[in-house]
Amino acid sequence: MERREARGGTLVLGGGFAGSYVARLLKRRGATVVSLENFMLYTPLLPEAASGTLEPRHVVVPLREMCPHAELVLGRVTGHDREHRTVVVESLAGELEIGYEQLVVALGATTRTLPVPGLLEHGVGFKDLADAIALRNRVLLQLERASIHPDDASELGFVFVGAGYAGVEALAELNDMAHAALRSYPGLRSVPQRWVLVDAAPKILPEIPRRLGEYAFRRLSRRGIEIHISTTLESYDGREAALANGTRIPARTLVWTAGVRANPLLAELGLPLDDRGRVLVDEALRVEGADDMWALGDCAAVRNRKTPDVVDPPACQHALRQARRLTKNLTGDTKPYGYRMLGQVATLGRFKGIAEIPGLHLWGFPGWFVTRTYHLYQLPLLSRKLRVVVDWTVALFFRRDVVELSMLGHPRKLGDDG
Ligand SMILES: Cc1cc2nc3c(=O)[nH]c(=O)nc-3n(C[C@H](O)[C@H](O)[C@H](O)COP(=O)(O)OP(=O)(O)OC[C@H]3O[C@@H](n4cnc5c(N)ncnc54)[C@H](O)[C@@H]3O)c2cc1C
Repeated sequence: MERREARGGTLVLGGGFAGSYVARLLKRRGATVVSLENFMLYTPLLPEAASGTLEPRHVVVPLREMCPHAELVLGRVTGHDREHRTVVVESLAGELEIGYEQLVVALGATTRTLPVPGLLEHGVGFKDLADAIALRNRVLLQLERASIHPDDASELGFVFVGAGYAGVEALAELNDMAHAALRSYPGLRSVPQRWVLVDAAPKILPEIPRRLGEYAFRRLSRRGIEIHISTTLESYDGREAALANGTRIPARTLVWTAGVRANPLLAELGLPLDDRGRVLVDEALRVEGADDMWALGDCAAVRNRKTPDVVDPPACQHALRQARRLTKNLTGDTKPYGYRMLGQVATLGRFKGIAEIPGLHLWGFPGWFVTRTYHLYQLPLLSRKLRVVVDWTVALFFRRDVVELSMLGHPRKLGDDG
């Protein structure tokens, strides 16, 4: 197996929010980043990519531009030899062994599913760009099929399970898209659509202050979105979802966003894990019991000295602050990590949003405006910011695009003329 050494001695596993920022902040010191994709996905904008407001390529940031001093190895981490300080990578060009002096683990999380009958066979996720684009195409295909058979209620039924940020924002954006698309489907204007949000918790968006959560609840309900809280999904057969409260919903699409769990690969890397499979780190973000390994982001149980009772939630703003501290600690200025969240923002479709900033709770248009401004500020690279501004501006003046592009990525074989 070919062996090489990490650039600058630092090997970063994962090029998501946390890993990409560590590599970027290390600047000229350099690092080698191993990642499945050559971009960092800016997840808060994913719902807008799903609804077509933003071009899919504009919600991702190319790692080679974001971290110009890092070496990028596209591939899958498959093993770790603690004693010899090497990581095995199934790269695009074959298996590699990469040696390190300092290892940074930022492998993120995967969707947590439950043993609900039919869920794995028929449900879809909403975690990455492929999920978002597939979901958009799926909704548009349902509208196309419904325009042929408007009497089939399941074609205009959509269920989202999980009322955290991802579920609520994705539902709100796609609901907006499906209603705006009716301008192009006159035959469907009088046919009822059924959009349903389900959560086991007694409220939606538990992460945000109660008043804003209640506003989101009212806003979504007023748009005709059915919200079922304190109940669970019992089964789904691809045509009908059954809830524990007895409700049955004919629906061709069920989106599962009910939580995440740390990357299961961590269990094979010989790292100390907590009972939820997250890497245990000390207050400086060093892997417990090691002086040459660090972990952060969704894959780690990060203690925060500003909120000592709870570990950090799986959120971008925490991953970013952890990356800042970890990079400083890695370069010798070791201090404990601490960060108090400044606020929270979310969009609820076009011109509607909620924002909590110090001393202020905003909703409606001001909440939407603050949410967009915040994301624009946070999105790395001026070139990305400009592309997003152009997309948003174009969306203000033109109708929603209803082209369904599920054929992308599946080109016809040469000679297949059928
Ligand atoms: C739809 C959605 C919306 C969200 N919205 C918000 C929001 O509005 N606000 C907010 O604060 N948070 C939001 N989040 C949460 C936020 O995205 C995560 O907390 C953040 O991405 C965590 O960063 P991370 O680097 O730990 O993980 P990730 O960003 O998931 O990165 C993990 C990286 O590891 C790589 N990887 C995984 N396995 C391997 C392997 N075997 N080999 C090599 N590489 C591997 C992946 O390719 C990826 O690059 C959202 C999440 C989702 C899914």
